[in-house]
Amino acid sequence: MAFEGLAEKLQSVFKRLRGKGKLTEADVEAALREVRLALLEADVHFKVVKDFIARVRQRAVGQEVLESLTPAQQVIKIVHDELTQLMGGQQARLDLGGAPPVPVMLVGLQGSGKTTTAAKLARLLARQGRQPLLVAADVYRPAAVEQLVTLGQQIQLPVHAPGTDRDPVDIAREGVAEARRRGRDVVIIDTAGRLHIDDALMEELERIRQAVAPREILLVVDAMTGQDAVNVAETFHRRLGIDGVVLTKLDGDARGGAALSVRAVTGRPIKFVGLGERVDQLEPFHPERMASRILG
Ligand code: GDP
Repeated sequence: MAFEGLAEKLQSVFKRLRGKGKLTEADVEAALREVRLALLEADVHFKVVKDFIARVRQRAVGQEVLESLTPAQQVIKIVHDELTQLMGGQQARLDLGGAPPVPVMLVGLQGSGKTTTAAKLARLLARQGRQPLLVAADVYRPAAVEQLVTLGQQIQLPVHAPGTDRDPVDIAREGVAEARRRGRDVVIIDTAGRLHIDDALMEELERIRQAVAPREILLVVDAMTGQDAVNVAETFHRRLGIDGVVLTKLDGDARGGAALSVRAVTGRPIKFVGLGERVDQLEPFHPERMASRILG
């Protein structure tokens, strides 16, 4: 599971702190130095770490905390609060308001888990009483279209997949029209990815965005890629404007850097996390629960 290294380190720092009873400012400073190192080793962006430590320090070294009956407990609570805030504070929900069919566009690099996530999200929304239609607009990877069709059969949801010799912008637009015709209320559009971000990809995504005016653009990134995931998010947000992030492969041994940095760097929240290859392994992201998991 992701975060193991970070969780282990932070928990040992705080165990030692709790063992001390009364704390001096120097004790807190020493603990913060270790927290800082643990975050950097977990691949959290260095500026994010710097600001995070500054905020914790400001709240943790005052008389009120040091002279309290349970100073270590207070410091841990402050770190917990600040970790939660770092990941966005409140759970960030999908906004599916507006007249149906509501278009949701999934974007991301190849291999990030975009196609799988499209099906997972459709399944999740269907279980919440929505009636999604999937749209296969990743025409450059024929396997992606087949994959989505197969996943659609598996989760028993319709897929608009007219083939790979069509313009993805037309496919997306038709997908929305098809949803309207069939009375589906959400349209989940799987778009093309590339191995690297390039202009042609971004222009195509911009054209799809203009054609269907998605209510949500969700960027799918692979947690295992750490800081690269954050750089990808920054670039997609700058070029396209994203509404949220789906962080996949958190079931792997990702160090946690992407989960902890992406919100601070892009200003956009993680909305869902992928926890495995199966279609039922997508969950809404809860910053507070994640912070609790890290701190044990
Ligand atoms: P795309 O190129 O972005 O459409 O990526 P795919 O949806 O084809 O996914 C690439 C690979 O990652 C596939 O083998 C998926 O099964 C796998 N995958 C996607 N999401 C997850 C996840 O949350 N956890 C794990 N372990 N594997 C995932």
